[in-house]
Amino acid sequence: LPELLFGDLAGRADHPALVDGSSGRSLSYGELAAIVGKVAGALAARGVRKGDVVGIFSPNTPFYAVAFHGVLRAGAVATTVNSLYTADELASQLRDSGATVLITISAFLDRAEAAAKAEGVRVSEIVVLDGAPGHTSLADLLAADAAPPDVVIDPATDLAVLPYSSGTTGRAKGVMLTHRNLVANIVQITELIEAGADTRVLAVLPFFHIYGMQVTMNAALHVGATVVTMPKFDLPEFLRVIAEHRTDRVYIAPPVAVALAKHPIVDSYDLSPLKVLFSGAAPLDEELAEAVKARLGCTVRQGYGMTEMSPVSHMIPDVREDIPIGTVGLIIPNMECKLVDPGTGEEVGVGVPGELWCKGPNVMAGYLNNRDATDATLDADGYLHTGDVAVIDADGVVSIVDRVKELIKYKGYQVPPAELEALLLTNPLIADAAVIGVRDDEGEEVPKAFVVRQQGVDLDEAAVMAFVAERVAPYKKVRVVEFLDAIPKSASGKILRKDLRARESA
Ligand code: ATP
Ligand code: MG
Repeated sequence: LPELLFGDLAGRADHPALVDGSSGRSLSYGELAAIVGKVAGALAARGVRKGDVVGIFSPNTPFYAVAFHGVLRAGAVATTVNSLYTADELASQLRDSGATVLITISAFLDRAEAAAKAEGVRVSEIVVLDGAPGHTSLADLLAADAAPPDVVIDPATDLAVLPYSSGTTGRAKGVMLTHRNLVANIVQITELIEAGADTRVLAVLPFFHIYGMQVTMNAALHVGATVVTMPKFDLPEFLRVIAEHRTDRVYIAPPVAVALAKHPIVDSYDLSPLKVLFSGAAPLDEELAEAVKARLGCTVRQGYGMTEMSPVSHMIPDVREDIPIGTVGLIIPNMECKLVDPGTGEEVGVGVPGELWCKGPNVMAGYLNNRDATDATLDADGYLHTGDVAVIDADGVVSIVDRVKELIKYKGYQVPPAELEALLLTNPLIADAAVIGVRDDEGEEVPKAFVVRQQGVDLDEAAVMAFVAERVAPYKKVRVVEFLDAIPKSASGKILRKDLRARESA
């Protein structure tokens, strides 16, 4: 294993490492390595020491990678912040992580300044990458021409990053990941993908989230590929960047697959450069995935992970055409997993749903400032209890059922909302859908569907209920339907069922 992540910018010096998908400006591996070193040196000269926490609050650009690797090269710990956060949310992450420096862009400066002033926040310097009056810019950092500091890092114990979980089920938790955790997962992932210097990766998933950070950015830089950045998802721009920048490997979350399967404008772009579309972060329905594959003529692959595993534990290797794309594939090298009955702690057999427990060098050191959550998640044998229910087949292929806590309990049966959501999406009149459990008049928990209709179609509650009822066992029937304009989703592409539940109780 390469010992440290920041030493791992492996591409040829003259080869493009990062390209800004909007402006086309690019940064070669040689330039990247040089400026990462200078950023590290300048941060050290400004008092950033090993173990200090630096916040990064920016959309995806090549300079995000510069800031990220510069912080790690200085021996500091990067806490990456959701770009959509309000000043209050930003303040709460800065406070919790103890960040002393914040790196941002001028467009985010209002929120950054407000957060830095909040009570309990220790940020004493804001670096504005593209410059702003009264603040240090990236150009200022580089102008100092400082050599990177000599820091000795123990990869097994020294933290590299403090990303926060998506906050899908509750408050986002700070996750302590060491250098070893990050490097391990990159090595594990890159063994299973066919990517090298000629690969052009599209980085539309946010770098602040572990999936964009590791699978899109760091794994690509590890194999010397070119990373094309996009600051946010916008379907026409996404399609333009694939066509014009000829990106052959594109990482997405399922909402993008829905758009690719259903939106009429997809046909107006030449997407022939695209070879592999890789989906993770939330369930990808098999039928939907097959529709995307047929429409775009590319390979579709799926992976599963969580912030706590840096993030991947399961994926379908590039070469395994035989593994169904509605599954999350196989356990990655150097990990162990088991499926356990959460009630008894006993291992379950092939085909029986159980909670997924995973162990390996990519599993977190623990949650930050949250001993109780750590103890409830990491057991004495080193297994991480994922909180997800899965099924394994005789060949070791794993399918994710849903989160343990979100299974709807109807009259003693367990109904996975994800299964009903996937089924609803197969209806051509439905643009998007989400399902939660609600109480009916008898106090029984029943599935309720929130549905977004395709524009201009005629679809009522009864038709939605009938569509589901014709296709599932009676206990899984959707019993309440409400139409919405949009399904609430997190920046990492997950349905925010907690927001829908909050609507119900409001
Ligand atoms: P929080 O832990 O704060 O509630 P979160 O669990 O959504 O938020 P992440 O670490 O970003 O935060 O996401 C991990 C979760 O995403 C997994 O536990 C799982 O529920 C879900 N997930 C990831 N990949 C897949 C997949 N391929 N299929 C189904 N679910 C997935
Ligand atoms: Mg989680």
